[in-house]
Amino acid sequence: MATTTVIECSPPVSQQDIEEILRTFSYSKHIVRNGKHFIIGNGKISRKELPFIHDSFTLKYVDSPFPLCSQEFQAKKSVVKVRDIEIGNGSPVIIAGPCSVESREQILTISTNLAAAGCHILRGGAFKPRTSPYSFQGLGHDGLKLLAEAREMSGLPFVTEVLTPVDVELVAGYADMLQIGARNMQNFALLREVGRTKKPVLLKRAPWADVVTWLQAAEYILAEGNFEVVLCERGIAATQASSGRHLDLAAVHKVQNLSHLPMIVDPSHGTGDRRLVGPMALASLEAGCDGLMLEVHHQPETSLSDKEQAISLEDYDGMLKKIKLLNSQMFVDPIKA
Ligand code: PEP
Ligand code: MN
Repeated sequence: MATTTVIECSPPVSQQDIEEILRTFSYSKHIVRNGKHFIIGNGKISRKELPFIHDSFTLKYVDSPFPLCSQEFQAKKSVVKVRDIEIGNGSPVIIAGPCSVESREQILTISTNLAAAGCHILRGGAFKPRTSPYSFQGLGHDGLKLLAEAREMSGLPFVTEVLTPVDVELVAGYADMLQIGARNMQNFALLREVGRTKKPVLLKRAPWADVVTWLQAAEYILAEGNFEVVLCERGIAATQASSGRHLDLAAVHKVQNLSHLPMIVDPSHGTGDRRLVGPMALASLEAGCDGLMLEVHHQPETSLSDKEQAISLEDYDGMLKKIKLLNSQMFVDPIKA
């Protein structure tokens, strides 16, 4: 297990002290969180080896490959705020919308209907990662403008994917939450760049990644000082799975035992089949996740991307009724009931 030394420097230190401590480690990072300075260093360094550090500094040894994400660092579960929506507060959050923003009419129709039906956060891709270079690549900057208009009309904050480090500033200028897609889970330059923003980040799990590798990817974002990270399970590669994809619901439990970060599930990409989205959404909530990401389209058959998994607004309505019923049952106190 990789041991790190986490030094909580309080009272505040001078830049010179910080630089001196940083040099003690073979590799280290300095972050500021809630006004507190932390230095995270590779290896286990004792107080004796840091003769110049202040007596009141707290030294913590975290035996974890993802120290800042770990429950050893923070036992209390994190709540991530996207505008006034809280993810991780015990009540599931629903993120819904089309795979891609396709037109003004499409995104305004979908977002206003979702808001009326009940939805917390709108989703929609403006920059799309597509397997084929000849497939619809998204509307780019125009798509961001349309999402901003949809937010204005519907009142829903939105999450959208950012594909490259150079686009982070542009996308962060519009979006309420930045999505890192499954394909980019280990794009370290991109992870660092979103870590330098103050925007909440939705980090999807790569289909080939185990839970530890996924949390290490999240660690890149936290190590830049951005703790506003939500994890999203979206199906892993599994050759024996009935559909070629496997929605790893056991990961909900595993992650929640390892990390303080909230975690949601995306049964749309996790199944690739609209008939399975509803049942897997309910199963995800039963598994104890903090929310769902659902692909919804007003005319699913015309979707320019991920058509097979898009559910209609009518199906969304029906699904939401079941979710609300399940949710009310989930939070009934069994002793009082
Ligand atoms: C998406 O959310 O539309 C998407 C491309 O997801 P993923 O990165 O999980 O494939
Ligand atoms: Mn999609």
